[in-house]
Amino acid sequence: MNTVTATLADGNTIEYIPELIGEGGMKQVYFTADKSAVLCFYKDHSAGSDLNRMARLEAILGRFNPTLDPKTGEYFKKLFCWPTGIVIQPHLGIIAPTYPENYFFTTGSWAGKEKESTWFVRPKLRQLLPTEEAGTWLNYFKICILLARAVRRMHQAGLAHSDLSNKNILIDPSSGQCVVIDIDSLVVPDLFPPDVLGTRGYIAPEVLSTIHLPLNDSKRKSPSANTDQHALAVLIYQYLLGRHPLEGPKIHPASSAEEQERLEMGSKALFIENPTDHSNRPQNLHVPYTALGSHLSKLFERSFVKGLHLVQERPAAIEWERGLLKTWDLLFPCRNSYCPSKWFILHDTTNVRCPFCGSKPKGSIPILRLRSQRRPGQWLLDGQLVVYHNLSLFKWHVFDHLRPGEEADRTPQAYFAFHQGQWLLINQNLSSLTSPKGNAVPPKSAVQLEDGVQFRLSQEPHGRIVEVQMLHV
Ligand SMILES: [Zn+2]
Repeated sequence: MNTVTATLADGNTIEYIPELIGEGGMKQVYFTADKSAVLCFYKDHSAGSDLNRMARLEAILGRFNPTLDPKTGEYFKKLFCWPTGIVIQPHLGIIAPTYPENYFFTTGSWAGKEKESTWFVRPKLRQLLPTEEAGTWLNYFKICILLARAVRRMHQAGLAHSDLSNKNILIDPSSGQCVVIDIDSLVVPDLFPPDVLGTRGYIAPEVLSTIHLPLNDSKRKSPSANTDQHALAVLIYQYLLGRHPLEGPKIHPASSAEEQERLEMGSKALFIENPTDHSNRPQNLHVPYTALGSHLSKLFERSFVKGLHLVQERPAAIEWERGLLKTWDLLFPCRNSYCPSKWFILHDTTNVRCPFCGSKPKGSIPILRLRSQRRPGQWLLDGQLVVYHNLSLFKWHVFDHLRPGEEADRTPQAYFAFHQGQWLLINQNLSSLTSPKGNAVPPKSAVQLEDGVQFRLSQEPHGRIVEVQMLHV
């Protein structure tokens, strides 16, 4: 195999195969000789003399790079396809890791294609996919958490993606993983302006409605962390509900298809589920966003009702991450074998029903209210956990200062079981679990869950108490 030598900005060289394997709007892509990485050359050869671009790449690879963090870098390497080097010869480009294999289709006419989110969020395309690739609803939920976490981390580092869209996020719904790609065009606010305005369907309304203004007009809005927040909300809505939040039946008087699009996604954008203005509401709205529970409902309302045209109302990525995690604790399995989702959010205890298939579970369901001590003797409700057989309890449930983020200890501390007509919490690793009567419950012993009982998950500082509500349905 013939290979060609490329020179990196740090003086090292790398061999690559001079056979084009892919091409985007701005770059041409080649494999390195060992295929562990790709070289992406900018098509615009004058990019090499563009000092701004060089400085931006150095910033993205260096001081803004979350994959270099000694504690959490490895975790985020899985969520980002972060460039690892700058190529200067034969011309300017970057080196990035090759996408892991699970992000390529393996069957049929799709074999070898990258799993862009587009395939999964467009109902018509999704129908064409082999069933093993389409994934489960629960895996889309996992993808939402990981994506919110990735965007949160990027924003924490002081970066904005500027083109978050179904094209720049690869997802693997069969395993519930995702990776953010095209990192080299990230925006460092106030330092490097964006190259692109975004992708159709994900550009924030304020960007689209000021697109006609001259570049130096102060009213013109550019991609930023705020516009990422809009794109993130659109993606989460699409992953969880399988439709676009702004694509409804409403027709705006326009002189061209382009103008129609600019109005529909820009100045006249209207949430299809707007609670008061129903003019963009599709007829076959099967599962409304409110079926996802109060945490996510509030975030969708801030994104698409209040914050659609008022950027400061939009939830930050960290709020999405928290809201999704709180909602994760309300998941309940649907026993209907024909259910398209197999899981739903049990948020309405007065009407327990799967919104995806309409079936109602039967039996008793323990709901744990988690309380943490804010002042001596004052226990504040700060979480809720819907219990099902074999559910695990983790440290972030037990202690109020821990979060299920990138640094979390994912060792189960205890698990729930329905055994001989009783609901039990079986201790595995909790050192000071205490029964409702105040007795120590060592590992391998259990606390019985009954309506109205209270007990401590830990006697250590930050340990929570739980209060059990037994739901009979
Ligand atoms: Zn169901």
